Amino acid sequence: MPSEKYRPGKIVCVGRNYREHARELGNEVPKEPLLFLKPPSSVVFDGDAISLPALSTKVEHEGEIGVVIGETLRRASEKDAVNGIRSIVAVNDVTARDLQKTDGQWTRAKGFDTFCPLGEESSELPDLESLSVVTRVNGVERQRGKSSEMVFSIPSLLAYISRIMTLEPGDLVATGTPSGVGPLTAGDVVEIEIPGVSRVSNPVQESR
Ligand code: ZN
Repeated sequence: MPSEKYRPGKIVCVGRNYREHARELGNEVPKEPLLFLKPPSSVVFDGDAISLPALSTKVEHEGEIGVVIGETLRRASEKDAVNGIRSIVAVNDVTARDLQKTDGQWTRAKGFDTFCPLGEESSELPDLESLSVVTRVNGVERQRGKSSEMVFSIPSLLAYISRIMTLEPGDLVATGTPSGVGPLTAGDVVEIEIPGVSRVSNPVQESR
C-alpha cells in the first residue's frame, strides 16, 4: 500500500513539456525530452512552508503531474514502463526563475530546501491519458493543463529516461508544467491539484 508520505530516491524532472509553457518563457519545444534533477532534500509535504531563499528575488510555482516508480525500469518499453508505475502525485516544482536564467544549469534554481512539495500518492493508478493538473494561488487559478497536451507522453518519458538511468522503486518523475507559471510571495498559499487523484497545499514564507 502506498504510504501517505514517502521519500523519493532521485527526482527526475522534465522541462518544456507543454507547448504554451515553452512559449511563455521564450523557448522552443525540445526535440527530445529535456531532463534535470531535483535533490530529494527539497521535498516537503502538504501544509509545510515553502521558504523563499534570500538568494532569489523571483520564486515561481510549477504545478506538475508526478509519477512514482514501483518497479525497476531499465531500457523499458512504454508498456513495461506503464506497468512499473506505483502511483501519481501532485508536485510543485518550485523554481528560482532569476537563478535559472543566470546559471548555466539548474541545480541551484531548482534545488533549494522546500522546493518540492509533494501530495499524497494515489491509491490506484488513474487513466494516464485523462489526467489534469491545476495550480491555484490564494484560491485563484493560475495554471491548468492536461496529460493529453504533453509534448512527450508519460509512457514515452519513462521509457526515454530508463534508457539513460535506471528508474528504481520510489523514484519520482515530474512531467513538466503547463503555461501560467508565476511568482510566489510571502503570505501566499499555493495549491497543486490533480483532480480526484492528489493535491498539495503550502504556505509561502521568507526564509529565516
Ligand atoms: Zn518543472
